[in-house]
Amino acid sequence: MIITTPKEFDHILSNLRDVDAESVFLVGCGSCATVAKTGGEPELLAAAAKLQEAGYTVLGHTVGTEITCNVGGTRSTIRKNAEVIREADAVIVFACGSGVQTVAEFVDVPVFPALDSVFLGAIVRQGEFSERCRMCGDCILDKTAGICPLTQCPKGLLNGPCGGMWDGMCEVIPDHECAHVRIQRRLEKQHRLQPISLPPKNYGVSLKPGHVNIRKPRVRKSLSDRSESGEKNTARTQGER
Ligand code: SF4
Ligand code: SF4
Repeated sequence: MIITTPKEFDHILSNLRDVDAESVFLVGCGSCATVAKTGGEPELLAAAAKLQEAGYTVLGHTVGTEITCNVGGTRSTIRKNAEVIREADAVIVFACGSGVQTVAEFVDVPVFPALDSVFLGAIVRQGEFSERCRMCGDCILDKTAGICPLTQCPKGLLNGPCGGMWDGMCEVIPDHECAHVRIQRRLEKQHRLQPISLPPKNYGVSLKPGHVNIRKPRVRKSLSDRSESGEKNTARTQGER
């Protein structure tokens, strides 16, 4: 799930002032931002009240059941609300960056994000989230016992632990167990403990903008496959995506 946090309200007001907006329309997200309690119905109602208090006219809002980053779903949500959105000076979107950009494709007035997208994470419990994946495009969880060193180690070391690890704890976040200690313990439990020796990551595979078309899948050698065959990293070549 994409974890989002609210932007400072003053930041939103400053964006509205920049375009001399007087009226706004709010768009939430029925999926991740609803679960994160940053872009569901209650958050939009609270934001609408604050905006009205600040002197803005809130023409309406929509959350819907669709995820905002669903292009087709958002297109139809915007169409359904087209008349009122046309009257608005700006649209404020309470969704991840992908959701904001999706809304911005379908409206002509300025679109402003109300949230910051901070990471791809797991729900630990209600209201508490933990980063799990940086979407590196070349997953090595098969080699690291299902624990991602890129996100769980503050230094993103693949072949740790670093020299700062102390008594199993992390040098950077002392109350966290070192990610590589966790990895090794789990590998041992699974009877597959051996030194991890991964080559440097090939960030060429996560060149931007990312694009995946499941109708034209591409099969690519993973970093760990290349490591086993002793192959060196190569940047992604044109046409590989
Ligand atoms: S190795 Fe890459 S794809 Fe796999 S969990 Fe970590 S960041 Fe995500
Ligand atoms: S102690 Fe472990 S988790 Fe912390 S920075 Fe070093 S290798 Fe990474």
